[in-house]
Amino acid sequence: MNKITIKNITTELLDIPIKRPHQFSAVKVAAKSFLLLRIELSNGVVGIGEGTTPGIFWNGESVETMQVVIDQYATPLLLEEDPTQLELLLQVLNRQIRGNEFAKATIEMALLDALGKMYDVPVHQLLGGLKQDKIPVRWALASGTPEGDIEEAKKAVSSGQYATFKTKSGKEAPDDDAKRSIRIAEGIKGHATIGIDPNGSWDRMTTTKWMDAFYEVGIDFLEQPLPPHDIEGLAHLSAMKKVPIMADESVATIYDAMRIAKEKAADIFSLKIHKAGGLKNTMKMAGIAEAAGISCFGGTSLESSIGTAACLHVYASIPNLDYGSELFGPGWLADDPVKNPVIMKNGYIEVPDKPGLGVELDADKIATYRRKTTEEVK
Ligand SMILES: [Mg+2]
Repeated sequence: MNKITIKNITTELLDIPIKRPHQFSAVKVAAKSFLLLRIELSNGVVGIGEGTTPGIFWNGESVETMQVVIDQYATPLLLEEDPTQLELLLQVLNRQIRGNEFAKATIEMALLDALGKMYDVPVHQLLGGLKQDKIPVRWALASGTPEGDIEEAKKAVSSGQYATFKTKSGKEAPDDDAKRSIRIAEGIKGHATIGIDPNGSWDRMTTTKWMDAFYEVGIDFLEQPLPPHDIEGLAHLSAMKKVPIMADESVATIYDAMRIAKEKAADIFSLKIHKAGGLKNTMKMAGIAEAAGISCFGGTSLESSIGTAACLHVYASIPNLDYGSELFGPGWLADDPVKNPVIMKNGYIEVPDKPGLGVELDADKIATYRRKTTEEVK
């Protein structure tokens, strides 16, 4: 039998509009950018991967940096290689390219999609098999005002779309942020509950001061209140045992996971396939969490149905996803670059069961949202 090899690798950028502007701690965005990666094998199978980040503020990578890293540095290491030796390929990438976990995750995603298609199994079978075939989804309230957020949450609950929520904080002063979150929690009490995510923008004193009030109003969790490096501060907050502390920016890699577990600096890990450098690393982080008695939450980098499918395959395959997920990316985007978007129903999202990631690209939509080069714009 002829050995199957990696024959061709291409990248392109897509800019897809979103339904409503989204307020992060640092920026407000109206469109989401994606790197679309295609890896073609010598047997004709094409695997697709999607690279995306909340923004360059999040960890320093962007779709543009991912494209350069993949085109200039990763592609020459992968061409003519055997895609079935996935672990070996990942090791080569890790040795030759430092960091750039989002870019590496995109490559691994495309390779797993190709292998799944080649073996005619969904990616979750390559990862060991499912624990569940659908997982709960939490919606992020980010309208910009407490009234808007309360109204949005109540509407989502009454229409049966979502039952739990997250508020984005960090735009205002920490005290005002905390008050706003409490107001939202009170405004939806009896209907739904929220977790708070200040994206690392609060300080130790302010956060400590508000922990009792968060407990009283029934906040589900406090996600990454302190800057990513402040592990000691997170450990202090976790030891208060008021509201579960979730680590997100602080727990990007498997090495971070080990340190946070050792220092008892979180009750929950927010998993994200891109920050971890891929699906396999995400499973390893969940394993570290499991051994340390830490729960997991299925985080998002706001993927389309491509990246969301990848998240679903791994999140639904881990045993300790006690806090569900926030895989609302496809519902937040105004359009989706695939013919068969992931299915969201009654607050749950279903794991695709077709070979590979289980999503099929829509060529017309790719053409519509493809970022034009300067030459093409002229
Ligand atoms: Mg977060």
